[in-house]
Amino acid sequence: MIRDSAREYAERVLKPNAARWDREEKFPEEAVAEAAENGFLGLTVPEAYGGAGLGNLHACIMLEEVNRWCASTGVTVSVHLSLVCAPLSRHAGEELKARYLPRLASGELLGAYCLSEPHSGSDAAAMRTRARKVSGGWVLNGTKSWITNASHAGLFIVYAVTDPDRPKGRNIGAFVVERGWKGLEVGKKEEKLGIRASSTCEMQLADVLVPDENLIGDPYSGFKVALDTLDGGRIGIASQALGIHRACLEDSILYAQQRQQFGRPIGEFQAIAWKLADMATDLDAARLLTQRAAALRDQGAACTREASMAKLFASRACNRAAQDAVQIHGGAGYTQEFAVERYYRDARVTEIYEGATDIQRLVISRLLLK
Ligand SMILES: Cc1cc2nc3c(=O)[nH]c(=O)nc-3n(C[C@H](O)[C@H](O)[C@H](O)COP(=O)(O)OP(=O)(O)OC[C@H]3O[C@@H](n4cnc5c(N)ncnc54)[C@H](O)[C@@H]3O)c2cc1C
Repeated sequence: MIRDSAREYAERVLKPNAARWDREEKFPEEAVAEAAENGFLGLTVPEAYGGAGLGNLHACIMLEEVNRWCASTGVTVSVHLSLVCAPLSRHAGEELKARYLPRLASGELLGAYCLSEPHSGSDAAAMRTRARKVSGGWVLNGTKSWITNASHAGLFIVYAVTDPDRPKGRNIGAFVVERGWKGLEVGKKEEKLGIRASSTCEMQLADVLVPDENLIGDPYSGFKVALDTLDGGRIGIASQALGIHRACLEDSILYAQQRQQFGRPIGEFQAIAWKLADMATDLDAARLLTQRAAALRDQGAACTREASMAKLFASRACNRAAQDAVQIHGGAGYTQEFAVERYYRDARVTEIYEGATDIQRLVISRLLLK
């Protein structure tokens, strides 16, 4: 049912518009609003807080469908669910959950996750944003970089160092900050290679006062929250890679059947046919890895290694598929007449955000050698 409803939504709302949104770098507001109406923005939020109470596996299936037609909408929804709704559901106290989850589930608030900074991407714990304790709350100062959804988000989970004298990684808090609070500025919008309709902005925090009750957990365990969150986020990005990969495969099959050279469809040339076979095999393998990680997380089992493996494999396979899809389309694939040009650009980021490819290898190998 989830697959059917996501597919119906994606084909009706995203398919006719995704290329234009990409060209115009236009945030897909209508698509996000309709995703909310369909219940996708609350898919994994517990029913007690207005969500559908479903799991990561359901989210994975929904995200593959959304990303099949629009990776910009895909990342918007993925970040909202896996990087914002999930940590609130899993780590916040009752009061914070009751205050924010229903508004996130309904789409009244779109979520953003603020970890990266100009000087700290892969080495996220080296962040410089500071939270200073004052009576009744914390005062946040710093700069966050590449924040997805920032231009349209109503709620930001901001990570900040609460005590620079404590060991790195055990000195970070996770704060819930609302849009419009004094001192929070959404800065320059990035002009990107791909997922151009998604919002990616810099953010400044200048003396932003956050009340004590908006801290998730204790003031020093925020980095643990961030890493647990990324296990789910990586399943979301692996699902994005599945959607883009499937788009590359489906479009390539069609083109290989239609395009004639040397008197026959190019799909009859073994060089093309074998590319299609490899793309399809990689896609199935990536989907199985991703759905295994999602199922483990739904069971409450540790899934750090599996989530990293899924993201590592799915993102690389998706980039190989995008490369082959452009090649199969020849000159046409290099123009905006054909969507594979966009898939090729969109695929690239799946190997970068929520832990670049080599960071996934680092995570997996550390667990193997431990
Ligand atoms: C479109 C987009 C959206 C984003 N959205 C968000 C968001 O919503 N919230 C957020 O907090 N962040 C976001 N990010 C930031 C993203 O998570 C970082 O870009 C990513 O973690 C990589 O960090 P970096 O760019 O600083 O690269 P760096 O950390 O500088 O890495 C550069 C290169 O060095 C490699 N490298 C680094 N350390 C090692 C190592 N120890 N071993 C081997 N290789 C290494 C990396 O793999 C990479 O290839 C987004 C980024 C993009 C592009």
